[in-house]
Amino acid sequence: MKKLYSGLCFIFVFNFLSCSSGKHEKPKLVIMLVVDQLRPDLLTRFDDLYVGGFRWLIDNGIWFTNTHHEHGYTATGPGHAAIGFGQHPGKIGVIGNSFYDRDLKKKVNCVEDPSAKVVGSSHGYARSFSQYNSKGMGDWLKEKYPLSKVISIAGKDRSACMAGGKNPDLPLYYNYHGQFISSDYYVDSLPKWVKNFNEELNISSYADSLWKKSLKNDIYQKYSREDHFEGETDDYLNAVYSPVFPIGFDRDVNPENKIMGRPWFERIILELAKKAIQQESLGADLNPDFLAIGFSAMDWMIHDYGPYSQEVMDACIKLDKYLNSFIEYVDKIVGLNNVLFVLTSDHGGLPLPEYIKKNGGQAGRINKKHLQEALQWIDEECEEKFSRKVYHRDGANFFLDMNTIKKLGVDPQIIYDMVSKYLTEVEGIDRVIIKEQILNSSDNDRITKRLKNMIHNHKSPEIFPIVNSGYLYRGPYGTSHGTPYDYDTHVPLIFSRKQFRAVQKNSSHATVDIASTIAKYLDISVPDYADGVPIDF
Ligand SMILES: [Zn+2]
Repeated sequence: MKKLYSGLCFIFVFNFLSCSSGKHEKPKLVIMLVVDQLRPDLLTRFDDLYVGGFRWLIDNGIWFTNTHHEHGYTATGPGHAAIGFGQHPGKIGVIGNSFYDRDLKKKVNCVEDPSAKVVGSSHGYARSFSQYNSKGMGDWLKEKYPLSKVISIAGKDRSACMAGGKNPDLPLYYNYHGQFISSDYYVDSLPKWVKNFNEELNISSYADSLWKKSLKNDIYQKYSREDHFEGETDDYLNAVYSPVFPIGFDRDVNPENKIMGRPWFERIILELAKKAIQQESLGADLNPDFLAIGFSAMDWMIHDYGPYSQEVMDACIKLDKYLNSFIEYVDKIVGLNNVLFVLTSDHGGLPLPEYIKKNGGQAGRINKKHLQEALQWIDEECEEKFSRKVYHRDGANFFLDMNTIKKLGVDPQIIYDMVSKYLTEVEGIDRVIIKEQILNSSDNDRITKRLKNMIHNHKSPEIFPIVNSGYLYRGPYGTSHGTPYDYDTHVPLIFSRKQFRAVQKNSSHATVDIASTIAKYLDISVPDYADGVPIDF
């Protein structure tokens, strides 16, 4: 009886504490943690090893375990657009990390801004979200609370320029030359605290640092595969292929260029975030502030070693520790009572194909030579048939020249058939997609929906291939993401507050729901153009 009573008590307390829609105390600061390429199993597999920041976030978190990116090209740019803007990336026009722009007739970066200048260094690129006509959570927040501050920090420019909406007060990203920079689209100069941070950063001092395991060796063998595994990248002392610990920088490598491939970069990002909280007085008054933190180094490490590697396990263990110190700091400066944390990721990822195969699954790396040959055959046959170019080809994406095609009276289906005939001969290419067909399709399966959410009416290519589940373009080492399959779309989503108790819910949600959920939690009305719906918790 006693047991039942305390159980009921727990349910009552939980419901009271976790109810949304105005019953909760509004947080003064929302901290969104986007860990690049963090598959949910990187939290669950090491759950009993986490004793730091991940532990706190999980133990005080409402975890929506069935959350997916509902768009077809799962990469950093589109993923951050979905999270930061609460809209499908195809609709906004973020159709890749970089893509061919048919109007400008050249390849553009997804946060390219030709009219902006770099602020804070003579190195790096000036970036912004100015090429898109959309607003995100950070913008909705500032419309409702004009005194609120929005700061977005990440290693990657596209992460920093998307997580905080279109017009954050200050996005900061790494320039691969030892400094964090911004662009004059946002600010005319860096605040003094960022300049000081850059002056003291001294990335070159990492030249002699060795990445070693944080825990005892046998623990890694229990939770991960062997350290030396075929398919892992070896970029240190690589005269003989040996992708094993310890990992450092070769003498001819400048750590300023490569530091984002090491776990220490996440600690640097959190140190910068601490400065932002203190110097910008985030969470100090009743105008809720928003701080987005992007952990870009995790993506680099997972690309190199794969999610089942000891390297990635160690990167997670270290991030748990770094986050612990960060959360303690937030408690000291802002008080954890006043903070809502959101933990998620911009996409998942594929285990190394070699690892999938070893475990009996179907996987592989697309043979670049075969793919190139197929593309060449398509180009040649088209030139032969039509005596002129009828498309611009960017990799395996075909942007049809509709004016020429109409003039010649060619049925686009002929071009599609040709592309399909050759590309599907390449092992690992599943099928070739026609934009028009997907847009007009009434199919309701998840893959079709994800492809639809990825397509921009004007900007997307008319014809493009998708790979088979388990296949990668990357090779011969490392892994990647980018498909509409669940291993690439499934990400963690945890809302954590000191007042919450751990609970997991398996209701189905999309990452476009995140912006709407934060908005509702802060009493901001969600704009009609948002694709997501607020999640109740
Ligand atoms: Zn990413």
